[in-house]
Amino acid sequence: MMKESGTTAGGDLLIVDVTAITMDARGSVCPDAAIAVQGGEIAYVGPARELPADLAGLPVYHGKGRVAIPGLVNAHTHAAMTLLRGYADDLALQEWLTTMIFPAEAKLTAEDVYWGTLLACAEMIRSGTTCFADMYFFMDAAAEAVDASGIRASLSVGMTSFGDAAQKLSDALDFCRRWNGAAGGRITTMLAPHAPYTCSPEFIGDVIAEARRAELCLHTHLSETVREVQQAQAEWGKSPIQHFESLGVFELPVLAAHCVVVDAQDIEIMAKHDVRVAHNPGSNMKLASGVAPVPTMLSRGVVVGLGTDGAASNNNLDMIEEMRFAGLLQKVHAGDPTALPAGECLRMATMGSARCLRLESAIGSLEPGKKADIVLLDLDMPNMEPALPERLVSHLVYSACGLNVSTVLVDGRILLDDGCLVTIDAEKVAREIRRRAASLAQ
Ligand SMILES: [Zn+2]
Repeated sequence: MMKESGTTAGGDLLIVDVTAITMDARGSVCPDAAIAVQGGEIAYVGPARELPADLAGLPVYHGKGRVAIPGLVNAHTHAAMTLLRGYADDLALQEWLTTMIFPAEAKLTAEDVYWGTLLACAEMIRSGTTCFADMYFFMDAAAEAVDASGIRASLSVGMTSFGDAAQKLSDALDFCRRWNGAAGGRITTMLAPHAPYTCSPEFIGDVIAEARRAELCLHTHLSETVREVQQAQAEWGKSPIQHFESLGVFELPVLAAHCVVVDAQDIEIMAKHDVRVAHNPGSNMKLASGVAPVPTMLSRGVVVGLGTDGAASNNNLDMIEEMRFAGLLQKVHAGDPTALPAGECLRMATMGSARCLRLESAIGSLEPGKKADIVLLDLDMPNMEPALPERLVSHLVYSACGLNVSTVLVDGRILLDDGCLVTIDAEKVAREIRRRAASLAQ
């Protein structure tokens, strides 16, 4: 398999002349900040004038007056679906899946998944995402692309109970054993039973047993559409969430994508078991799945992060746009412009998503001791003015786009430098993608 260049460790550096939006518990915004990076971790973030003397000698990276935020975390995607971007739009979910997406996916090879994932990594890095949760197949190839790109990811093999389910589970466990903690710790893994409607209760039982044995979290789709809930009621007399609870799924740490069609009882179940939700407003709108009751979930203490879902149903992986979608969707749905304010959207895309991936102790905020996953955004663009410190969170959510991102670090290593991808040959990726996408569509 053709591969991009491998990874190297990040160097120590001192980012100066930035405004830091830390997303720490106090929501600190620090103008005239310095951020010191040592050994891939944040050693200091705060006022430049209070920088400890022993950090002052680090090689300087000029922030040029930019704003620094924690790397955005995409809590749910299918990265290699970038190959299918624009291939099938404006169709009902079931028709979209069965007549277009599944037949095209059946033709995918491991090499396609490698290049599709690498394109996704390029797009995510370019738009300020430093970590993502992925569920797909040929995941060894996806992991190779993650490794090569320098991004961070929680990877899982999507499993259904159709066909040889035992073999699928065994292969997924092998994948977890091979890749958990790989790429210098940037790759973590989960087990991913695709959804209640594609996994039999017996299979779910097997997945739970193996996940418990291997100490793995679960990544699944849950309560995405009205149709899914109606089917669950007809088959089990329960909502999908009640069904999963009765099977014991929530005794494990669970990342559940969507949770659009949920009632008060479902939300209580999620809160009780600390089920963490990846909200995907762009995909939910495009597929007309509905509106997840995010403010209610948050008020009940449910952890909610933000994801893009795959590029076939979004159609980009821009987490900045996703923050705006999240805020605007709740406002129009509630008929209330105070619903889901900007700061909450930014929290969901950073700490919320980090919690979804169970990586909150390592990423999600700019704080000493955390990984140096840092994004700098250009304020020197018309859509970011007036660039007053007190307006920056608003600009980030309501006015910015991915192209405002100028610099991206993961583990202290620069992956995007002044708008240029460092680890990925974008032209080569584009050539491969166009050729492969055209042949998949034939
Ligand atoms: Zn999905």
